[in-house]
Amino acid sequence: MPAATTKVCQKCGISKPLSQYHHNTTRSDNHNGICKDCQNKVNKSNN
Ligand SMILES: [Zn+2]
Repeated sequence: MPAATTKVCQKCGISKPLSQYHHNTTRSDNHNGICKDCQNKVNKSNN
């Protein structure tokens, strides 16, 4: 099994390691569909 797993961010489309995604237990893979960078932008825009 590969130790370093990556996934493609649904927002920016860049493949990043899972460490760049917030944990989200409601997701099937326990990580958000978008990366931390994109999540931060979403959070700011929601203000
Ligand atoms: Zn992203």
